[in-house]
Amino acid sequence: MTERYTTTDAGSPAPSDDQSLTVGPDGPILLQDHYLIEQMAMFNRERIPERQPHAKGGGAFGHFQVTNDVSGYTRAAVFQPGAKTETLIRFSTVAGERGSPDTWRDPRGFAVKFYTSEGNFDMVGNNTPIFFIRDPLKFQHFIRSQKRRAANNLRDHNMQWDFWTLSPESAHQVTWLMGDRGIPKTWRHMNGYGSHTYSWINAAGEIFWVKYHFITDQGIDFLTQQDADRLAGEDADYHQRDLYDAIERGEFPSWTLKMQIMPFDEAKTYRFNPFDLTKVWPHGDYPLIDVGKLTLDRNVTDYHTEMEQAAFEPNNIVPGTGLSPDKMLLARGFSYSDAHRARLGTNYKQIPVNSPKVEVNSYSKDGAMRIHNVTDPVYAPNSYDGPQADPTRAAEVRWMADGQMVRVAYTLRAEDDDWVQAGTLVRDVLDDAARERLAHNIIGHASKGVQEPVLSRVFDYWRNVDPDLGKKVEEGVRARLHGKA
Ligand code: NDP
Repeated sequence: MTERYTTTDAGSPAPSDDQSLTVGPDGPILLQDHYLIEQMAMFNRERIPERQPHAKGGGAFGHFQVTNDVSGYTRAAVFQPGAKTETLIRFSTVAGERGSPDTWRDPRGFAVKFYTSEGNFDMVGNNTPIFFIRDPLKFQHFIRSQKRRAANNLRDHNMQWDFWTLSPESAHQVTWLMGDRGIPKTWRHMNGYGSHTYSWINAAGEIFWVKYHFITDQGIDFLTQQDADRLAGEDADYHQRDLYDAIERGEFPSWTLKMQIMPFDEAKTYRFNPFDLTKVWPHGDYPLIDVGKLTLDRNVTDYHTEMEQAAFEPNNIVPGTGLSPDKMLLARGFSYSDAHRARLGTNYKQIPVNSPKVEVNSYSKDGAMRIHNVTDPVYAPNSYDGPQADPTRAAEVRWMADGQMVRVAYTLRAEDDDWVQAGTLVRDVLDDAARERLAHNIIGHASKGVQEPVLSRVFDYWRNVDPDLGKKVEEGVRARLHGKA
């Protein structure tokens, strides 16, 4: 017998690994076989609800090392010169379910948790600097349109294009998605972006609006639609396997964190709405400033406890960092923690992978699956030496907001337009070959099951992005539908 013997979940020696308790060798199984019952009951409860969206993903642990001095912009300990902080990252697709292929065309989630000396800081980004919509009331509808229909439970290109073409603010992100970067070669070969505008506050209390860019040190690379389709069949977990194997080989992928930084007052008059999630800040206006390097160097050892139960949320902010008036970001501040409470339980922050490395002195109490003891006093204010909030430590970012309550779109700025930055991407950033692949990908996608009146709107949509591209898309789709291509 070995020293390491199997036990029940209560720690007592298990009677057998392979035989149930029966009445005689051929007789019925007995209900008092508590170990068999425990095994069956636990197995039935192994799966927890998958994330809605971003269900399929994987990631690793690592660290973030500051290499530059940005202390003039933020007082956050995690961004002070020389600081080194443990991190966790999770990459994901958006629309696919937990077992879906990694190589489907989709934005990729790029969620980073920094276990800082001032509490957890999460950057819940994507591999795109923008998003499909700019008002959170549309988010649920958007995701449903990308997932499955009610009757046949199928994904449906007609439904996707219906939503996109009725939501012209999606044009920039859809252009991005249909281009090369819509299917990264691996998770190592893509950038991560905070996408939203966030805020920083320095030791003097000055506020800056900022955008986070994690630029891959491996270089950008992509899969063609053809290769992605092949890989979806050959190895649905292609991206997950690539990252895991690279780290096991000692090839530690890294990203350089660079920031765009806008002085507080410039936001008031900037030519684009700087809080609109469908727009970038052109590099020419706000150049990238180096901050440090994020390196992944340790695989998880239990995917369930360290990745499936990992909970990232944009409201995990630390002193020196903050949100902004971006409506999508403000709504995410609620929706992520709410999703975790629903999926993992109210005390999900006590799951080790989500626990901060610093002492927690909150007044939260009880609830299902609470692990850490609560001590008296259980209320504030109190006369018994309980913790007291220190607003100077919290360094909350606050901005002015005043006006009548309304349900309207953002106020348009001089250059705000749904098509302009998408057009810039097509005409000024892509080369001829990339433009050709973009048209090819759109034609392939829009030729599958898209019907009138949606189809005509697809052609108008692309004509609005770029007249040449629109013409090419219409000709290409019509040729395919009439069997000429
Ligand atoms: P720049 O010429 O300074 O930057 C263009 C950027 O486009 C590059 O730096 C690169 O971003 C990104 N890019 C390159 N190839 C592709 C591709 N196939 N698909 C998507 N993005 C690509 O121009 P601007 O800053 O003035 O922006 C012009 C357009 O570039 C924008 O309308 C936007 O569509 C796109 N873009 C801009 C970004 C920004 O934050 N300003 C970020 C990403 C895209 P990177 O360096 O991040 O890899």
